[in-house]
Amino acid sequence: EKSIEQEVILPLPLSEIVNSDCILQLHGRALHGPSMNNIGALMVINDITQLKRLESIRQDFVANVSHELRTPLTSIKGFVETLAAGGVNNPDEARRFIGILSKQTDRITMIVDDLLSLSRIERDAEKKAIELSEGRLIDVLNSSIDTCTARAQLKNISLEYSCDPDITVKIERTLLEQAVVNLIDNAINYSGNNTHILVQAVYLHGGKDEALGEVEISVKDEGVGIAQEHLSRIFERFYRVDKARSRKMGGTGLGLSIVNHIALAHGGRVGVESTPGKGSTFYIYLPKA
Ligand code: ADP
Repeated sequence: EKSIEQEVILPLPLSEIVNSDCILQLHGRALHGPSMNNIGALMVINDITQLKRLESIRQDFVANVSHELRTPLTSIKGFVETLAAGGVNNPDEARRFIGILSKQTDRITMIVDDLLSLSRIERDAEKKAIELSEGRLIDVLNSSIDTCTARAQLKNISLEYSCDPDITVKIERTLLEQAVVNLIDNAINYSGNNTHILVQAVYLHGGKDEALGEVEISVKDEGVGIAQEHLSRIFERFYRVDKARSRKMGGTGLGLSIVNHIALAHGGRVGVESTPGKGSTFYIYLPKA
């Protein structure tokens, strides 16, 4: 006796929380009595909405990665072919092409490094393998600023920080530093010359219950800003407001999603506020030690 299987989509906003279609998988088969008489049917309904959503995220991700890698690869292939077809005989041209080849391979390396870093953080966070220990935030800010100072100076951007030396949080120092550096790097990349960046850490009070308090790290720039409609997507992998600008800056489109995962690995979260033309402020919130 065969069973039937069918997927159905309920295009319903079922409630305030479920605001997308609901995808159900139905399995049905007839039930028989001892003399093979029909006595009814059995139907099993599985809600596979979440499964389908994850599947589509995975598909999008693979498509995005392939696309991101193909762009520099296409360029590399083109220049290698031109060199092979006689370009090597013109030393000036050849030198220029090799410069481009080197830049494009650097780009692929950066994308792969960021992808590996992202998957390592995600995997370790899931396995609870990230060891947090109490540390002073001021030390984290200090070394993050050190890492970025030279780049800021190239655009004559002043880089300042303020942090009470008493603020301590449970952190994985290398990771948190990577997150703050990513935010400062973006602030530099998306700001004009002669502007100002302020990095700050403060305690936010949890009202009566002090244990609920958080520490807020903020990176504030006077750069191009981000239009409202992009803000909710900015932490997604490969999401960029302006692809061409990001590429020119050497961006991979993964920096903010790394910041997001580092915040999550600390039991924290991220936030952003921005006014186009005025500047942006990015936040990392960490639970109080
Ligand atoms: P990218 O490598 O492109 O900088 P990110 O994940 O770091 O990737 O950032 C995603 C996008 O968010 C950027 O492409 C840019 O459009 C926007 N963005 C990030 N930081 C800033 C900022 N400080 N000011 C303006 N736009 C920003």
